[in-house]
Amino acid sequence: MSRVRLLVFNAALGVLDYRVPEGMTLAPGSVVIAPLGPRQVLGVVWEPERLPGIDVPEAKLRNILEVLPVPPLKAELRRLIEWTADYYCAPLSSVARMALGSMAALRGGGTTTEYRLTGVEPTRLTPQRAAALDALQHEQASIRELAERASVSEGVLRGMVGAGLLEAVTVDLDKPYPRADTAHHVPRLNEEQRRAADAFIEAVHADRFTPFLLDGVTGSGKTETYFEAVAAALDAGKQVLVLLPEIALTENFLRRFEERFGVAPIQWHSSLKASERRRAWRAIVNGPAKGGAQVVVGARSALFLPYARLGLIVVDEAHEVSFKQDDGVRYNARDVAVIRARFEKAPVILASATPALESMQLAETGVYRKIELAARFGGAQLPDIRIVDLRKEVPERGRWLAPSLVAEMKTRLERGEQSLLFLNRRGYAPLTLCRNCGHRFQCAHCTAWLVEHRFTQRLACHHCGHEEPVPDACPECGAKDCLVACGPGVERIADEVAEILPEARTALITSDTMNSPEAIAEFVAKAEGKAIDVIVGTQLVTKGYHFPELTLVGVVDADLGLEGGDLRAAERTYQQVAQVAGRAGRGEKPGEVLIQTRHPEAPVIAALAAGDRDAFYAAETEARRDAGAPPFGRWAAIIVSSEDLTEARDAARAIGGTAPDLPDMLVLGPAPAPLSLLRGRHRFRLLINARRSAELQKILRQWLEPLQFPRGVRVNIDVDPYSF
Ligand code: ADP
Ligand code: ZN
Repeated sequence: MSRVRLLVFNAALGVLDYRVPEGMTLAPGSVVIAPLGPRQVLGVVWEPERLPGIDVPEAKLRNILEVLPVPPLKAELRRLIEWTADYYCAPLSSVARMALGSMAALRGGGTTTEYRLTGVEPTRLTPQRAAALDALQHEQASIRELAERASVSEGVLRGMVGAGLLEAVTVDLDKPYPRADTAHHVPRLNEEQRRAADAFIEAVHADRFTPFLLDGVTGSGKTETYFEAVAAALDAGKQVLVLLPEIALTENFLRRFEERFGVAPIQWHSSLKASERRRAWRAIVNGPAKGGAQVVVGARSALFLPYARLGLIVVDEAHEVSFKQDDGVRYNARDVAVIRARFEKAPVILASATPALESMQLAETGVYRKIELAARFGGAQLPDIRIVDLRKEVPERGRWLAPSLVAEMKTRLERGEQSLLFLNRRGYAPLTLCRNCGHRFQCAHCTAWLVEHRFTQRLACHHCGHEEPVPDACPECGAKDCLVACGPGVERIADEVAEILPEARTALITSDTMNSPEAIAEFVAKAEGKAIDVIVGTQLVTKGYHFPELTLVGVVDADLGLEGGDLRAAERTYQQVAQVAGRAGRGEKPGEVLIQTRHPEAPVIAALAAGDRDAFYAAETEARRDAGAPPFGRWAAIIVSSEDLTEARDAARAIGGTAPDLPDMLVLGPAPAPLSLLRGRHRFRLLINARRSAELQKILRQWLEPLQFPRGVRVNIDVDPYSF
């Protein structure tokens, strides 16, 4: 074959033909470097019949430069990349990029060079070199990472290599990992768990695509149960991928995994160092047969990696919003996990105590196989749920906790038990204003209030990350000491607990305080060791934790999630409250949950209070059916943005003006997007509501591809958007 078709890593061009130089052998999936204009880009050899090509005349064909020392991407993964790009209307190369690391990392093959201190006594020491010597004790990494760690330039470190203070070491990225011992600590499953595990194990052995919905109440042992399927896959020499919605849950998972299998799994998420990422990537590609990865636990991006032999996928807390990626390729990892399992001919387990309505529907219609765990493990009872009607029971002025909730917390403190207060709002107060002139502190780059964080003494935008110090005086009227905090955030609730229960030991758990594995481990150790009486936290505390002494959960404001009014508000509220309620009474002592609300009559709150999950799903199903929302109809959003307001509006109108008029599709908008200014970009949105039968992606492509916009305009398509 002298000519090949490449998927080149360039979003605009996508697919191009190249010439194969004499002596080079390529196969579909081979990863290569090819020239593109004056640059060199990554490319993957593709089957020409699957991708429409550009007819490059023979004379204009350029030579492929280099084949990279990695195995070709398998057909299963190539099909997944095609499917994802097609379904989410994303460029093929953007999807393929998620499968491969950086070009430099791929070029290096199985080894990499890292640097460490030699221990040689320096004769002459500049301040920077002294700082580096100090900071880099026991460190070993690339020059770039070391420079970051020591806050000096790479030049300084290169100088130190020259002076013999730092030395290069060749690191073998393919060094085998210790093997998991599937018999390390085998739990004794109860009957219900056994049945579930057997169904999973059978599917693992059958090498057959089988999507499971593991619908099990909190504390029923979903993890223990799917671990048996993991063991079966490992015994058969296959790899397992476990997707978790948040890095914060990883610590807990790692610990349980080690208890069960005696070794740690391989992690994949955004906070890995470059060197860790390279080693993990190699391990995944090598697979168990070559001493590589057996089990990978990761965030959604782990889904596209080139596993050598994937035999099982688990999506834990499968209902979670964070499986939906909202920039770049806008995909839902829960759904793509099912597609990947289909291509790999493997089972996939979606585990949740509060499955998304879409998943429930697919189980009901027999597409997914539903496995239920109806009882908590070890005879623990689900907690009692009580409503605190804030219209009747008013907290004291400037306070947020109703007297009955406070009374229950006191009782827990006296008994030496733990309480948890949940409020899904970071910071001290969601809105800060000037008492003198009414000025509200707003983000300069977004349509959003700045949130006061007393912890850091700063005002922060939760959308773009902009931060500024809390000012002494109002920037509008100049009045001093005039700032008023409006409404509660978790920090304020923690303050209130300190006032009403001064003797209680309180822990504040938000992404601001729990920002490292060490911090999480310390919190868990303290909570388990009964060194914490009251936990105050955001959604970070709603999942995964198992504290046997925790017997009271207070939901500070159950109405919070319902305010936005989007179609998923009720489901999200249901999930969050049910999950956090699930933290109570997991040991021998019974648990109680108090839900503070001003709308006890809202169907979702009433269903929670009655513990009637079926009622909730039934009401939600009807609401969705009426709205033509998923799973009954489909939505897509087109987001048009620009730094220039007029440009963005004109582009959105142009799109609206060319909307196809089809019987099975409705176009709404354009209208300002919910965050009409985000990171300095003005945003407009069109919503498309289509019948299930409509060929939505095809319609979108035919509609949008011919349109041309000024350079500053971005048009993003969001298929199956999370909120709308
Ligand atoms: P879920 O994920 O459904 O909330 P977990 O898997 O976290 O439930 O289980 C809840 C608790 O019960 C955990 O501490 C777990 O170790 C324990 N557990 C569940 N099943 C068993 C079992 N068969 N043997 C021993 N402990 C179990
Ligand atoms: Zn902002």
